[in-house]
Amino acid sequence: MEIGFIGLGNMGGPMSRRLVEAGHKLTVFDTRKEAMDKLVALGAQAASSPADVASRVETVMTSLPSLDIGMKVVNGENGLTRGNRIARYIDLSTTGSRAAVKTAEILKARNIVQIDCPVSGGVGGAEKGTLAVMTSGPKDEVEQVRPALEVFGKVFYCGDKPGMAQSMKLANNFLSATGMAASSEAIAMGVKAGLDPSLMCDVINAGSGMNTATTQKFPRSVLPGTFDYGFGMALMVKDVRLFLAEAEDYGIPVEVAKAVGSLWETAMKENGEQSDFTELAKTVEKRAGVTMRAAKKA
Ligand code: NAD
Repeated sequence: MEIGFIGLGNMGGPMSRRLVEAGHKLTVFDTRKEAMDKLVALGAQAASSPADVASRVETVMTSLPSLDIGMKVVNGENGLTRGNRIARYIDLSTTGSRAAVKTAEILKARNIVQIDCPVSGGVGGAEKGTLAVMTSGPKDEVEQVRPALEVFGKVFYCGDKPGMAQSMKLANNFLSATGMAASSEAIAMGVKAGLDPSLMCDVINAGSGMNTATTQKFPRSVLPGTFDYGFGMALMVKDVRLFLAEAEDYGIPVEVAKAVGSLWETAMKENGEQSDFTELAKTVEKRAGVTMRAAKKA
């Protein structure tokens, strides 16, 4: 099918590449020219703005880094609502349900259907097409674009109300954020007690403490000290803040989330917005007075 794709970053880059490789005709836009050039080299058409994308195709996907940018792309001066062909907007970003409800209303007034479609599974999942793809919106519309979404991974339908898939995604990312925070503290404690952090991950992964921090984030980015997992610190902090806001909206008590959120806020202050989210481990290391690196092989 003909698809517009806006936001060709860590996630949008490989996801749009997979769509081209699956035979879809893509029109792309990103504020970074080099990101567009890569897709154009694969056969995609370059557009000059979100409005230009929305004037060329009916189905537009976005994968953007912040709520403000998302809103600007939808309804800004050169936003999607200024285009005259768009009929369907699929947002792959994590925005939380408040923002999803707001954009759905703006778009509905212009006869544009919104499908919320946040994804989970990281850059590796985006590259391999093994993401969890969470959808909400009109079911028939989701079914119509299912073949394109299946290029990204396993598609789940979460409900018809705007934002339902976003609530699902925030629950998931809160658990991911908590796993990273709690695993960092657990491994720091063990290292202080004299344990080897690589051994600790092996034991935890054979036991009941296993989670994606110990199976993937530590082995790939913390133990080797590369801190290059591909998910920005600011994005994780955004997601934890959104989870806290969502919980407040629904009146859910969240003691664990508040503590986890506070550690992530400290990690962003210390390591910077542009740091990789695995650098939260550095903040825990600093406080504990340990280093959680794998021993160099002899
Ligand atoms: P990213 O920062 O790597 O990519 C964002 C892209 O948007 C960049 O290429 C940037 O140039 C482009 N952009 C910025 N402003 C723009 C504008 N006004 N118009 C057009 N393009 C613009 O972010 P990412 O890691 O790819 O994340 C995108 C979304 O996916 C976020 O909502 C994030 O929370 C979510 N997400 C990320 C991951 C991950 O592991 N990185 C996993 C799941 C979900």
